[in-house]
Amino acid sequence: MFRRIVPLVLVLSLTAGATTLETDTRACPVCGEEIEVRVLVSTNNFGGVGTDFAQHAVGDQPWWYWIGYSPECGYADWVGRFGEELPDDETAFVRETLSGRAGEQPLWERYYNLYLLEEFRGATGVELADTLLIGWWCLRPENVSQAYRYNYTDAIITLLDEALEAGEVAPEQLVERVYLAAEMSRLEGNYDEAKRRFEEAMLMPDLAESGMSDFVVSQLLLCDAPEIRGRVLEGDFSGGGGMDDAEDAVTAQGAWEFFSNNVSDAIDRADAALLVYYYGTRLGWTSDELAPWIGRFRENYSQELKLRPLLYDDGEMEIVQALADYIK
Ligand SMILES: [Zn+2]
Repeated sequence: MFRRIVPLVLVLSLTAGATTLETDTRACPVCGEEIEVRVLVSTNNFGGVGTDFAQHAVGDQPWWYWIGYSPECGYADWVGRFGEELPDDETAFVRETLSGRAGEQPLWERYYNLYLLEEFRGATGVELADTLLIGWWCLRPENVSQAYRYNYTDAIITLLDEALEAGEVAPEQLVERVYLAAEMSRLEGNYDEAKRRFEEAMLMPDLAESGMSDFVVSQLLLCDAPEIRGRVLEGDFSGGGGMDDAEDAVTAQGAWEFFSNNVSDAIDRADAALLVYYYGTRLGWTSDELAPWIGRFRENYSQELKLRPLLYDDGEMEIVQALADYIK
């Protein structure tokens, strides 16, 4: 049974196969309802890795099937455990607390129920953060509002912060956890906080060994994207043109390659392309050199607007729309 987020290097070396499922019927130990659960028999890692450590399969994602859930009473548990008898205090907890969150719920709400149950069971902060992270993987691609996403990411960041502060994070996972707190802050829209955390990860002695260097460098660069969206729209390419811009242009191209070869949000691909364009313009690139990047950022902003319009408030929506229409 899946229990912890496996260190990234291990995830990347998982063997690949087809995603296959079996269907099983289990009695809910709280309300007795017969629940049909899908059990993952095998999966693959052909889909690439996300900036939130989700190792994607081609086809169905494995984490859709790591949880069993009873809509009748709100009980949620790891699928390997779902159907087994529960201690009396846990049964009482489900009846008193989780029943208020029962009913047909999306996957991330089910993981939230499991998180609440695990908290009651006395799980560590790192374990709780991992459970919510899986829920986040289900939530991330969806068209839900920023306010909603904020609550979810904020809970993960708080758990990671507390675990880091309490020294509960294993030394070999320190870089990954600091990076993850940074990335969740970025996805939450808190760019200053994200930047501070990415910069902290940059200075960690184990960064190179952790295999996280490319992640940290490209995500740190993306923290500037919201500001640069505005500058590009105003045609403000003033200043710069020096070594720093040349370096940032190369980093942004690296980020673009990384996002294109892995699972990524369209907005991150759009922003990486935007940054290449921005720095390229400051460096005096020719219009032929700039043209592909305009195409890339336009195409990906358009895709983002189609997929997740609820994510943006009116002001951001206008900017993203204007960039999608940039120099037609
Ligand atoms: Zn039940």
